[in-house]
Amino acid sequence: GAAGARSRDAYARARQVLPGGTTRVTVERDPVPRYVSHGAGAWLHDLDGRRYLDLNNNYTALIHGHAFAPVTEALQRQLRDGTAFANPTEHEIALAELLCGRVPGLDRLRFCNSGTEAVLFAVKAARAFTGRPAIAKVEGAYHGAYDWVEVSQASEPGTWGPAEAPSAVPYYRGMPEAVLGDVVTLRFNDAEGAARLIGAHADRLAAVVLDPMPSRAGLVAPEPDFLAAVEAAARRHGILLISDEVLNLRQGHGGAAARYGLQADLFALAKIIGGGLPIGAVGGRAEVMRVFDSSSGRPALPQGGTFAANPLSMVAGRAAMQALDQAALQRLEGLGDDLRRRLAAASMARQAPFTITGAASLFRIHPKRRPPREHRDAHCSPAEMAVLAELSRFCAGHGILLPRGTSGCLSTPMGPAEVDLVVQVFERFLEERADCYME
Ligand code: PMP
Repeated sequence: GAAGARSRDAYARARQVLPGGTTRVTVERDPVPRYVSHGAGAWLHDLDGRRYLDLNNNYTALIHGHAFAPVTEALQRQLRDGTAFANPTEHEIALAELLCGRVPGLDRLRFCNSGTEAVLFAVKAARAFTGRPAIAKVEGAYHGAYDWVEVSQASEPGTWGPAEAPSAVPYYRGMPEAVLGDVVTLRFNDAEGAARLIGAHADRLAAVVLDPMPSRAGLVAPEPDFLAAVEAAARRHGILLISDEVLNLRQGHGGAAARYGLQADLFALAKIIGGGLPIGAVGGRAEVMRVFDSSSGRPALPQGGTFAANPLSMVAGRAAMQALDQAALQRLEGLGDDLRRRLAAASMARQAPFTITGAASLFRIHPKRRPPREHRDAHCSPAEMAVLAELSRFCAGHGILLPRGTSGCLSTPMGPAEVDLVVQVFERFLEERADCYME
């Protein structure tokens, strides 16, 4: 399962110019990352001529897999006409129309270049609208690299603090105290605690930032009373609800809030809406989105970006989203249901300690006997992480890239044969490697 000679050579070169040899902390390595030569559909090819079923899909951004023909063709056409202008193009209108037409509550939107920016602008919009500085967010949940949402992201046991009032945990040394003071940490699926904490800090809270199924906090299903409690508490106190759907928009034609019955004021979108190119979008209720409106002078919240709404991302996103119709999403969900059910059954049949979470095209394998409800249950000990590392290594050795510490995802070029392959390799792992997972 280890990377080959060409990847090792590339990595040695990379270490001379990139700290640690990579430019994303999320690059998986064992200890050397696999360098990609190209991707095609569901498959990824590395420099050493090996082929892998890609269950990472650039961290869920590539819902159509690699080099999806409609996207490639749209990009080729656009490349001849120029890559980025200071002036707007019709392409941004077309993608905005498509998204506003699909996501309930998305009346207006603004484009940016990443999910980080989408969340950042959503938080700032909520502040500008309410005149308040603070946010509430879920413990463990990942929302990108804006300081306030980094608080209590991927936090470790020992830092969590009391269950009834989780600590605001700094993400890096030197994180300003002022940031920590403006973040209230909630536990996912703790309806009573969330309502109480939101109420207690209501006069300072601009927004609750909520991913309906936070991937890094376990990809655990939201309990309906939790979502209802958060929404009601926010509503009661004039606090805006931001649905971070950077990852989970792919859970339905109308996105994740629509799927789970959550009424958000603002949305952060990214990943799949760019068809594989860099993108982000902040959107929501027209009344709130007015903070960005500069048509009659300085708006409440000036926002821009050199490559915002660049036509390449716009045409790629439109081609990808047009192909992602109800039928395509239903088909993916069927495959996902089948995969999750069969992985769980394989583990159960051998009394192995794995549970499966997820929905639609997303899944996560937990090295745990009991299904997690929130970050504190989903968090893996070093021994559990070692089991996941072995599983991921085994999969790589059998031609599958299974993300180690995050969610796996299916893509539209996959079908029953690919699901069979994943199940078969997991079953072989359970048979052959009981040494590494049995207590
Ligand atoms: N929010 C969520 C829920 C995410 O999953 C991510 C990225 N994985 C982000 C925000 C940040 O997006 P980006 O990497 O595009 O900045």
